Amino acid sequence: MIYADYNATAPLRPEVLEAMQPYLLQEFGNPSSSHQAGRRARTAVETAREQAADFLHASVQEIFFTSGGTEADNWAVQSAAEEMLAKGKNHVITTAFEHPAVLETCRSLSRFGIEVTYIHPDRDGRISADAVKASVTDRTGLVSVMYVNNEVGTIQPVEQIGAFCREKGILFHTDAVQAAGNLPMNMDRIKADLLSLSGHKLGAMKGTGLLYVRQGLRLPPFLHGGGQERNRRAGTENVPGIVGLGRALELTKQTLSEKEKRLFLLREELEKKILLIPGAQINGAGTKICSTINASFAGVEGEGIVLSLDRKGICISSGSACSSCGGEPSHVLTAMGLTKELAKSSVRISLGEEHTMEDIAVIARELAQAVEQFRQLFGMTI
Ligand SMILES: *Cc1c(COP(=O)(O)O)cnc(C)c1O
Repeated sequence: MIYADYNATAPLRPEVLEAMQPYLLQEFGNPSSSHQAGRRARTAVETAREQAADFLHASVQEIFFTSGGTEADNWAVQSAAEEMLAKGKNHVITTAFEHPAVLETCRSLSRFGIEVTYIHPDRDGRISADAVKASVTDRTGLVSVMYVNNEVGTIQPVEQIGAFCREKGILFHTDAVQAAGNLPMNMDRIKADLLSLSGHKLGAMKGTGLLYVRQGLRLPPFLHGGGQERNRRAGTENVPGIVGLGRALELTKQTLSEKEKRLFLLREELEKKILLIPGAQINGAGTKICSTINASFAGVEGEGIVLSLDRKGICISSGSACSSCGGEPSHVLTAMGLTKELAKSSVRISLGEEHTMEDIAVIARELAQAVEQFRQLFGMTI
């Protein structure tokens, strides 16, 4: 099997499993207990917090563990909106191609009388900082723009947007789930007040993640209860998951530059080979992460290509993992201005550290064959 759907989820790193194992069996204590078993679990959680802070160039007080990227996004947007309302502001700016975890949370804000502006990316898959500036009014209290788009891999100018928001006193949240495994992360540079990460996209367990909350920012708790995570996110900590997340972040940091160097070459090669297929186009241009390729093949259903490749043992996706069930064209690609037809004829290939040039050759060959077969089947000429 060639698994090339890393943006949907990445395999657990063996070193992560190894780090987690003691906390699944012997070290089962509750971090809130004052006895030795509890204290050892507490130490493990706080070590992971140090690893996470180190990964983000942040301080440990700024790290709050969550059950994943979705929870971090919900918490950030909902709580920032609550803060904003208390200050008499009721306008949020986000983008039309966010992950549903942000998009749907923003939609839900209408029940509080909050108005949301959805900025559209350009044809290349990029949001301009100027478009954000132009949408700001004196009622704007929150801007949420993703760092890297999960379907096309384009990098957004979060540094500029963050600097602008800070100057204007507007809260800035970024969903950095797809950035974290693919770009160096540094909160001094990113200038976000809130940032979401997910564990399973970078080799930790599903159901793990974190929200970075800039020091000094008052943010209402998301889950009420026993006072865990400094009274902000109650519930007994997922100790093994948190330990694994810390280790995964440490490994991600150590291996990033090597991964980037190698995968950029693989991505370039695959894009080159894809463009040799008649009627093919690459979606997303400009600065992109090394792992993600999105392509449309005029007249051929993306989901059909996915199933054809699946029969050959190759896992890729059409659109995002979440949207492939609905049969609707990708909201990301349509926001970028692709027609519904072209959006439906798209696939996403997302690579990981294990891939080689041989894998790229196999993927390209099978893609070309699948597209050709569908076109013959339907008597299409391109
Ligand atoms: C996967 C993903 C999420 C959701 O993270 P989970 O941990 O799966 O809840 C949020 N945003 C982006 C951009 C993602 O790719």
